[in-house]
Amino acid sequence: MAYAMQDRPLVRDLTGLGDLPQVIAVAPESPAQVAGIRPGDDILSVNATPVSEIVAKDPEAGSLADHLEELLAATPEGEDITLELERGGHTLTISFRGEQLCATRFILKTGKGVTAYSDGQNVALSAKLVDFAQNADELAVFASHELAHVVARDGKAKGLRERRAMEDRADTLGADLMRCAGYNVERGLEIWHRYNQRDILRWLRDPSHRNIPERVRRIEAHIASTPETCPPPGVPELED
Ligand SMILES: [Zn+2]
Repeated sequence: MAYAMQDRPLVRDLTGLGDLPQVIAVAPESPAQVAGIRPGDDILSVNATPVSEIVAKDPEAGSLADHLEELLAATPEGEDITLELERGGHTLTISFRGEQLCATRFILKTGKGVTAYSDGQNVALSAKLVDFAQNADELAVFASHELAHVVARDGKAKGLRERRAMEDRADTLGADLMRCAGYNVERGLEIWHRYNQRDILRWLRDPSHRNIPERVRRIEAHIASTPETCPPPGVPELED
């Protein structure tokens, strides 16, 4: 339970949640669902590591979900994940083969401006950005640009030139990813026009990014001239 110790009795009364981590959702037709895991199952152990052991090592409630995710992710490729679960007072053990999908985590950040950023592994979208976006296509423009940075393993640039090349590539690779995920790039780019009107000064101050109309033109030209290949064929080299 990711609640502070003193709030737990109340949360338990209100929601019926116990101290054990619980499955809150199972993706339809996922290996976990096919194997019989159900929402509401309490998790007792992951790959023979008891949850109590994880809690004992790091009592900070909020990080338990992170630790469980790390354990799941550490399962060697080609090996089963085994969960020991509790359902209706019974203990059951379920094994299934995980599927390698998108390893990037998307995080919602409160208290920030209209912004999105990534740290090599996670993509953060601010709550204000989510409000500012008028539809999922618009949000996908920002999310896929950051996802492209993660996919391309963009780290610290050696200089302004390289930074700019990375940003250019994140724009076009992001558009490819977005298109493959079923979003409408053209419609999504509307967010840049509104963003530009709202905050022109910031972009003038930030020389690593081109000005917004120029970026929109590059993305549109890329989409128009590049046939849709899904998944995108790889990470293009940085352009000079
Ligand atoms: Zn960027």
